[in-house]
Amino acid sequence: MTAQAVSAPFDVFVIGGGVNGCGIARDAVGRGYSVMLCEMNDLASGTSSAATKLVHGGLRYLEHFKFRLVHESLAEREVLWAAAPHIIRPLRFVLPHHKGLRPALVLRIGLLMYDTLGGRKLLPATETLDLSKDEAGKPLKVGFRTGFEYSDCWVDDARLVALTARDAADRGAKVRTRTKVVSARRDSGMWNIEIEDQASKARETIQARLLVNAAGPWVDSVIVEALGQNGAHNVRLVKGSHIVVKKQFEHERCYIFQNADGRIIFAIPYEEDFTLIGTTDLDYQGEPGAVEISEAETDYLCSAASEYFKKPVTREEVVWTYSGVRPLFDDGASAAQEATRDYVLKTAGDKVAGALINVFGGKLTTYRRLSEEVVERIADIIGHKGKRWTRDAHLPGGDFPATGFEAQAEKLARRYPQLERKFTRRLTRLYGTRAGALLGDAKATGELGEHFGADLYAKEVDYLIANEWARTADDVLWRRTKLGLRVKPEDKARLAAYMAKRQ
Ligand code: FAD
Repeated sequence: MTAQAVSAPFDVFVIGGGVNGCGIARDAVGRGYSVMLCEMNDLASGTSSAATKLVHGGLRYLEHFKFRLVHESLAEREVLWAAAPHIIRPLRFVLPHHKGLRPALVLRIGLLMYDTLGGRKLLPATETLDLSKDEAGKPLKVGFRTGFEYSDCWVDDARLVALTARDAADRGAKVRTRTKVVSARRDSGMWNIEIEDQASKARETIQARLLVNAAGPWVDSVIVEALGQNGAHNVRLVKGSHIVVKKQFEHERCYIFQNADGRIIFAIPYEEDFTLIGTTDLDYQGEPGAVEISEAETDYLCSAASEYFKKPVTREEVVWTYSGVRPLFDDGASAAQEATRDYVLKTAGDKVAGALINVFGGKLTTYRRLSEEVVERIADIIGHKGKRWTRDAHLPGGDFPATGFEAQAEKLARRYPQLERKFTRRLTRLYGTRAGALLGDAKATGELGEHFGADLYAKEVDYLIANEWARTADDVLWRRTKLGLRVKPEDKARLAAYMAKRQ
């Protein structure tokens, strides 16, 4: 199909609708640049929905002396929590001391550094636990007597992306999903970017002064295939998988387990009735979109968790798995788990030649800081506009106090007394102060439209289509919500048919 040139040039064009691309688009448009972002699939369909979902300093990175990364990440915990207290919440981590592994003194010193490095205001400090008395000891084998408990935060990763994209669009950015960048060429200081609608295969050419390649694990293939440069090798692809099993313990804290191979895994309370266990760390050579858990990884995660839990975790209990590919900057580390989790930005060209900024690596936790750094570079190249602004800004629905989630949920429940509390609470978790706009004047369940199983109704689906770029049943069931864990295949088929009719 032939390409058509359209519209006035944008200041900035962003490739990739993961957390980093959306963060950059949001920051840039908020400073006054005109911005367009294209995502070839759904928002967060790449690595940004496959994380362990921690907003954390990364206790383990202290062992690799990554002090800058740990400091920046720790400081971001309370910044992001305040920005989005519906989808981000504090989480306490229980680290059982294992006699054969790291000594208790080393753990205590590490946690002391963790507590002091990152400017903690609301998150509680580390404590030592007597696991023979504390409830956290109950599901563990009897040998674990001492534990340490510390704070980090938890985030719904895919929603972080959708809400960041929503905010970017609310501020004027043009966001297109299911639209692939197929080629980009410089001409007299301007980029001509050819994009292809993945459904119709129609192509258009967009012009922009500056191009940002935030394609995550595809960053090198964009450099080779779309930009036509030879043999790029900047990122090391490292696969990580998770299993979701039936709830393994009753309390709301999470476990961090040290393994004999030097790695750690987490066991995290998940979606009320489940426990999330992960992750693995394995070099990966395939197409990032085709990544999936292997039998060996499932066995590894079951047996690593069973080293600690009294009741072994078995394959039969696994209800869902997911895998993702970390696009780590290739720093030449020998083991996958040792490769840096820090981000690296590289700029090519300038204002006259047409500049390109490539983004390598990064974490969910540092996406806002990475975005600031990218937009500072943009400003240096095409001229300064607004100042840094995202530190004190809320994401959509997050405009209530960081510690105010319960009050916010109560407010919605009181406004809709005929709706089930569990339902209004779930909506508060996902949509925060925007949940009221989603429900509108639907006061009773019968007014929420067609029912698709669990507590999913047409009202929510319509909202997601209109406001969050949801196009398929998987977008709704696995990325905008996690109702895929509860909705039956026949309900999913009805949802898919309903959504197809709406477009
Ligand atoms: P992606 O989310 O992959 O986004 C890139 C996007 O670009 C994709 O959606 C892709 O479809 C799109 N794209 C590619 N090519 C094109 C093209 N030609 N045209 C248009 N679009 C294109 N971080 C944390 O802070 N905490 C954690 O607990 C954590 N746990 C993790 C656990 C695992 C197993 C993994 C894999 C990662 C984890 N991370 C964690 C890291 C974090 O998830 C990633 O660093 C982050 O999501 C990367 O985001 P991204 O935007 O760079 O990439």
